[in-house]
Amino acid sequence: MPTAQQTAGRPKLLVFSTGGTIAMQAGEEGIKPRDRAGIAGLPSNLNAVFEEIVFSNLPSPHMTLENWLKLAAAIDASLKSPEVAGAVVLHGTDLLPECALTLKLCLSAEKPVVVTGSMHAQGEAGYDGLRNLENAAAICLALPGCKNVFACMGDEIFSARTVFKQNSVAPASMSAHDGLLGRVVNKE
Ligand code: ASP
Repeated sequence: MPTAQQTAGRPKLLVFSTGGTIAMQAGEEGIKPRDRAGIAGLPSNLNAVFEEIVFSNLPSPHMTLENWLKLAAAIDASLKSPEVAGAVVLHGTDLLPECALTLKLCLSAEKPVVVTGSMHAQGEAGYDGLRNLENAAAICLALPGCKNVFACMGDEIFSARTVFKQNSVAPASMSAHDGLLGRVVNKE
């Protein structure tokens, strides 16, 4: 837990964990949800303070419209705090686009929200969860006061309106009908 001195003046980012591969752990018995839900670690190399909120621990095909509407309400309520600069949503990738679109249509906060996930669980070769979380956080920090929702996977940024899952194995698993909005390079 950072001290008051360490957090002073640094923007706060909320990390809403909903489940999916990014909340899973590879071990001797295969890939399983972690006992303690949520992300395995929070970025330490960005100028921000993170607060994790474990919203659920569900694979994305088990998420429903009701879950997403509750998530939108929880995000909107927490983004009201002036010290909060934005939110990252960690989600299973199968229905990540549906979550992103619902948030785009429902959120009213004038702050950025980025939805991400991972194609590999913690402990698997190529674990991409922390990198994707860092990238999503970097997008929030780069767009203060931006009322919009983005999806980010494999360093690629997409509009929440048009993103779809196009690949079930590649780290860059998303695409969009109107193409790529941008890329995160070295946390920029
Ligand atoms: N089946 C998982 C889900 O969508 C896959 C993933 O997270 O990538 O929850």
